[in-house]
Parts: sequence; structure tokens; C-alpha cells
Amino acid sequence: CGCNREEFPHKIVDLMDGFKASKALFAACKLNVFDVLSVSADLSPKEVAERVKASEEGSARLLDACVSLGLLERRTRDDGDHVYSNTEEASRFLVADSPLSLHGYILHCNDLVWPLFSHLESAVREGTNQYERAFGKKSEDLFQDAYYKKEEVKLRFMNAMHSIAKVSVKDLATAFDLSMFKTACDVGGCTGAMAYEFTQIYPEMSVTVFDLPQVIAMSDRFQPKDQNDRVTFVAGDFFKDPLPKAELYILARILHDWSLEKVHQLLDKLSKECNPGSGVLVCEILLDEEQRGPSRAFLQALSMTEGSQRSASQYTLLLGQHGFTQTHLKHTNNLLDAVLFVKE
Ligand code: SAM
Repeated sequence: CGCNREEFPHKIVDLMDGFKASKALFAACKLNVFDVLSVSADLSPKEVAERVKASEEGSARLLDACVSLGLLERRTRDDGDHVYSNTEEASRFLVADSPLSLHGYILHCNDLVWPLFSHLESAVREGTNQYERAFGKKSEDLFQDAYYKKEEVKLRFMNAMHSIAKVSVKDLATAFDLSMFKTACDVGGCTGAMAYEFTQIYPEMSVTVFDLPQVIAMSDRFQPKDQNDRVTFVAGDFFKDPLPKAELYILARILHDWSLEKVHQLLDKLSKECNPGSGVLVCEILLDEEQRGPSRAFLQALSMTEGSQRSASQYTLLLGQHGFTQTHLKHTNNLLDAVLFVKE
């Protein structure tokens, strides 16, 4: 291009190709490439193609793309053929039934987030979520109108939440010592993945998962085999119904979804439930105080839900208006950060 090495726009070139890399990961997950390679390693493109019911040529290209992205390993057999295996990271995080699998979340990205982001210009022009343009249906409340009307879409969403909750919960539950709280309520706690891990880490803690009836109806499907009786489920709407009594309220990936008005409504309700000394654990991606990153938060905001991303001091101001003081803060380096508030 006539420019010297330093001038070459590496970052821009990476961003130009970034969407192809994401889609290659999504397609490999959706086609269960990592799953067939976990059953038998060292498969040729033809063998993968037969098992995932795809073309040999397409599979060969997708496998090589995955090798180049560090998701698969390739070696050459004695007969000169290339064979492919999962990397250690793919075995842990991309095989659908591995304990920390992100498979569920990746399918959500492929089937829901990707179509929404393909209308990003319209989202920016109109300042609205593009659900209707992408899926042909209006949605006032993303959960009740978009995700929970169809059983199949609801399960996909629940699987997505379950998979990222499992990856992030240990770092959140151990961000600070929460053992002084004996009862907790996971508000919008979905499948109970977080609740279960909290009871594992805090043997004296009981957790009530509070979520919409449509979600609670499916919670049985997500319970671990060694489930304990310290996790219980209560169905309700956190804008309309009373919340279960608890010493600690967990709000994981809840506040960023809603308008300021609804956030105040929810915090007001929480504040009335809480006695002095009760806690609220906010788990969100925290913006840095200069509001320049992390880009994960700003990119998530582009899905244009009615809510917004905040920094720790913005959460502190917000919860302060409802009588909560920030006592602990941890950047976990995981998917979500944690801030603990205590009622004055
Ligand atoms: N807290 C979970 C986590 O971090 O994995 C799930 C977060 S998910 C983004 C939001 C959750 O809030 C969903 O499980 C959804 O069903 C629940 N939710 C949405 N609106 C609700 C309402 N009005 N009342 C109760 N739960 C609601």
C-alpha cells in the first residue's frame, strides 16, 4: 500500500475481518464441529463433514479457519492427510456438554444478536432496538414479548444465560466474603446457575431464585444432579410482585437492561424490602471511570435496549439515591464485575 510497517493499519484490518472470525466460531458451534471432535479426535474434513452433515469442501475451509483462529489443532497423518482436533480451550468452553461450555451463549449470539447487529445502521439512525426489523415482530418487553413467547426461543435464551452464568459466577461469588448473609434472593436469577454456585461456596447460605413464571416453569431442566435444598424458585414479576425476603439481593445483568425510570422503580422496591445491613450485589460489566472501555460494554449497548451501561461511581450514585452505600468493588477480569452495597 506504499505505507511503511508502522503506518499499516493493523487494528483496522483486524476489525474489518473481526465479524468473519466471530461468524466462523458461531458456525462451527452451530454445526457441532467441536462436539464431533470431542467424541473422536483426529478427524479428516471428510469425516467431520459426514458427522456434521455438511459439504466436504465447506467443512475443510471452516476447519482451517478454526485452526488459524486457534480454536482447532491440525496435524498431518502418515498418509499425508490433514486431521483436526479440539484445542484444550475448545474442549473446555466450546463442546456443548462440557461443564463450562459457552455453546448456549454462542448460539444466542448467532441466532439473535447477529441478526440484530446486521441492522446496526438502522439502530443508530432510529435510536431503537432492531428486533422488529430482524424478526418481523414488535417487542415492547424483550423478555416477555421476544424471548418467552416461543418455547424454543425461550430455551435458547435460558441456555445462553445458564452458560455465561456458569463461567462467571465463581469469580462473582468469591469477589468478597459474603458469608455473613444467610439468605439471598437472585433477582432475575433465571436458571438458578448462580444461586446454586453461591450455595456451594457459602454452605450456610440459602438462595431464592426470583424470575418470571415462564422461566421458573422450565427451571427443573437446568438443575445439577447434586442439587441441594438450599436453592428454591419463586415466580413473579419484579416490577409488579413482592420480592422474597432476603439479607442479600443479587442483581446480575439486570440493571443495564432497563430504562432509568424502571431501574428506580426496582431499586425503590428493593430498598423497602431491605433492613439496615442488608446487601445488594450488583454484577455488571463496569465502565472505566473515563468511560473509554471496556469495549465489550459499549458494543453490548449497541443492541439498543432501553437501558445503559454504567461505571462503578455511576452505580454508587444510583444506589445511593435509595439508601445504599458502596462497601466493596472488584474488577474480576471475568465477564462481569461485582459491586457490593449495604443498606444504611
Ligand atoms: N441474572 C441472570 C444472569 O446474570 O445470568 C440472568 C440475567 S438475564 C439478562 C435477565 C433475567 O431477568 C432473565 O432471566 C429474565 O427472565 C429476568 N426478568 C426480566 N424481566 C423480569 C421481570 N419483570 N420480573 C422478573 N424477572 C425478570
